[in-house]
Amino acid sequence: MTKTFVSHLECSYTGKVYPADQLHGLSEAGKPLLVKYDLDALGKAISKDDLKSRLPEFWRYREFLPLRKSANVVRLGEVMTPILAAPKLQVRYGCGEILIKDEGRLPTGSFKARGIALAVAMAKELGITTMAMPTNGNAGAALAAYCSAADIETYVFCPEDTPRVNIEEIAFQGAKTFLVNGYITDCGRIVGEGKQAMGWFDASTLKEPYRIEGKKTMGLELAEQYGWQLPDVIFFPTGGGVCLIAMWKVFNELKDIGWLKGPLPRMAAVQSTGCGPIVRAFEAGEREVTEPWENVTTQIHGVRVPNPIGGRLVLDVLYESNGFGPAVDDDAVTEARARICAEEGFHMCPEGAACVVALEMERASGRIKADDRVVLFNTASGLKSPMPPLENRLEPGQAVDYSVL
Ligand SMILES: *Cc1c(COP(=O)(O)O)cnc(C)c1O
Repeated sequence: MTKTFVSHLECSYTGKVYPADQLHGLSEAGKPLLVKYDLDALGKAISKDDLKSRLPEFWRYREFLPLRKSANVVRLGEVMTPILAAPKLQVRYGCGEILIKDEGRLPTGSFKARGIALAVAMAKELGITTMAMPTNGNAGAALAAYCSAADIETYVFCPEDTPRVNIEEIAFQGAKTFLVNGYITDCGRIVGEGKQAMGWFDASTLKEPYRIEGKKTMGLELAEQYGWQLPDVIFFPTGGGVCLIAMWKVFNELKDIGWLKGPLPRMAAVQSTGCGPIVRAFEAGEREVTEPWENVTTQIHGVRVPNPIGGRLVLDVLYESNGFGPAVDDDAVTEARARICAEEGFHMCPEGAACVVALEMERASGRIKADDRVVLFNTASGLKSPMPPLENRLEPGQAVDYSVL
């Protein structure tokens, strides 16, 4: 039994307090709950040096997480993801520094593993036996894998046009998997309406409080790898916004316990011109996403969230961090992904390539200065997204004309 430093949970809108170590969904106000810590005690219990002797994995940050019993940890290989230099992007865009944190190395090939690893460990700790979620692909894949490992039954609902490889991966990893002719919001409604009858725990984005906590490890890792001094700007592809919320939360926790040198970064929420409800609200100076995005046209699946339930929390991060919200075009993303893959040998996912396009736009707009140190997130392995077909064929019985290869 490990001590945790959780003091309570809190409604992100009303501030109403909820007890730790209990099963929670949304608050009574229907809003996301945030886990709060006794940061004083946490700061005294662990030092930066203590981390050095721990394994290079997710659970090295356990004091910042709410899990009590290590017996409930489910491990599939949660490595610390590398931060890669991008020399050719650097030449092209000329910032002080351009680094890419490659989250495609995590189990199930995306950073969704971080939030789900913790949510499933907590579910196990709190006695949950069945979980369900709507997904655009990667969250469902992570849920299926971790739940199978933890002996928790799972039901996953995907929009029909989710890439095949993701859908098949989810089913292959043991989830009961269903295609829905609609958007993720339609899938979410199916989970919401079925959970009573089916006894499901709803693992939807921000409808349970622990995925945020797991995703904090991304910010903890970045801070540690970066020498406890953060970059000037972080670009993150934003759908539900868990990552942006989680990183900002943990940066503030770290600041509170005195581990960070220098100012916090400006946070950029990258969305699409074909689904950008947060960017639209930000541009209009609003504090809430009041209108769902009507006509979702983008094929960048990670950002296809027309009505993010944590919209206000994401907007808060943008305002508090002096951040911004670039919206990128699908064609530019396809082009950038292909170019980076061919030039740098780095196969980004479309969501990661969207950050590169956003960086280009914001260098041109002047929001990113020539000496800014920038970190982009590649949120999944490029292998999870479709690639252009290849048609070069050779016949073994015929002579090869090497001059035309
Ligand atoms: C889910 C997802 C995102 C968006 O993350 P949020 O935390 O929901 O904003 C970005 N990229 C990929 C590959 C994803 O799977």
